[in-house]
Amino acid sequence: MAAGETVFSAMLQEFDGAARLLGLDPGIWEILTHPKRQIIVSCPVLMDSGKIQVFTGYRVQYNITLGPAKGGIRYHPGVTLDEVTALAAWMTWKCAVAGIPFGGGKGGIVCDPTKMSRRELEALTRRYVAEIVDAIGPEKDVPAPDVNTNEQVMAWIMDTYSMHVGVTTTAVVTGKPIEMGGSLGRREATGRGVMITTREAAKHLGLDITKASVAVQGFGNVGSVSALLLNQLGSKIIAVTDWKGGVHNPKGLDVEALIKWTAEHKTVAGFPGADPLPPEKVFELDVDVLIPAALENQITMANADKIKAKIIAEGANGPTTPDADNYLCERGVFLIPDILANAGGVTTSYFEWVQDRHGYFWEEHEVNERLERKMIEAFNSVLKTSLQHKCDMRTAAYIVAINRVATVTKLRGMYA
Ligand code: NAD
Repeated sequence: MAAGETVFSAMLQEFDGAARLLGLDPGIWEILTHPKRQIIVSCPVLMDSGKIQVFTGYRVQYNITLGPAKGGIRYHPGVTLDEVTALAAWMTWKCAVAGIPFGGGKGGIVCDPTKMSRRELEALTRRYVAEIVDAIGPEKDVPAPDVNTNEQVMAWIMDTYSMHVGVTTTAVVTGKPIEMGGSLGRREATGRGVMITTREAAKHLGLDITKASVAVQGFGNVGSVSALLLNQLGSKIIAVTDWKGGVHNPKGLDVEALIKWTAEHKTVAGFPGADPLPPEKVFELDVDVLIPAALENQITMANADKIKAKIIAEGANGPTTPDADNYLCERGVFLIPDILANAGGVTTSYFEWVQDRHGYFWEEHEVNERLERKMIEAFNSVLKTSLQHKCDMRTAAYIVAINRVATVTKLRGMYA
């Protein structure tokens, strides 16, 4: 990010470009560039030391025109209101692109979970939920896991909310353990969506996905499932990197064995049957497909000129800086933007919410089939828009999203 630029101003830049091409009504433009609601709470927690510490928590409901706010809660020392607001806006566009009836939300607590005990984390979670309890709910705002929060945190949120309202309410959060209303297929959903959108992009470009070569940055939930499912289609995964190192085998890695190795060793580094690869080299390989699935701001002007891939599928959120994005677009690289490529996760979260509200649970193949349909629909509408407006896929995804939210905003009219 350039000096002085905030995460929210970066979001606005992406928004403005698409809104201009769309010819967005100035009044709707004004509405869609302001968060609907920003909540700041102080959460006192009795720490194991016997001292009381007060943590700041945020929940932002950026836009709820299409339905309840949807978005994760992150626990991190660097959380700010600006960042949470931008992430809530991105959730608005992601849900709209995915064609699911949710608005966008995000939450965060300024804390360092690596320095807290399980009891302290539970106490903090419960107090945060108690502070925002009137603002969340299956019809209002449905949180989910994000950085440093997991199924257990979702279980505590669900329990605290249920205690307050006096009714067991599974649909208040998604990303829950299966035993208490989670959805089959949710864990793999983001990687599955990356695989589907990559496959569709290859089809559009006339590239045979069954023979494609792939490099993946990040081998956590998103990276490992994307690699595994593309490998099952026949693609050759030739390189994988993570925070500690990387592995490379031009003949293709045994992805299942690599997943087992990583579970045991906590890194891909040292995997037998492959050469070591310095993590930054993952962007320089001669591959058809590159999947950044680690962190934001990984593809920058410092490495974009070394990228040889024809397709980049953004498994991670915000892995490409705006200047690198423009550069790659000019070079004709087909980039599937994060709000489309990784929308499989939130789409299956929507399925989880639907199942909870019905009290009737689908088999895994039903979840996957529905996800497949939704992702193909989303990909095709973004591709069609990109061809129609002669713009890149990221701008097209924004156009699709903004148009959907703007249309409903106009239909609902102004309440004043
Ligand atoms: P994860 O924690 O399971 O995995 C992250 C991976 O990135 C790990 O392998 C880690 O070693 C690697 N990594 C960290 N720093 C790195 C570095 N400097 N260089 C190379 N690799 C590095 O996380 P995840 O759930 O897979 O999420 C990855 C990205 O996808 C994040 O941007 C997240 O916001 C986004 N995302 C995740 C989901 C989901 O459902 N999990 C949904 C949408 C978007």
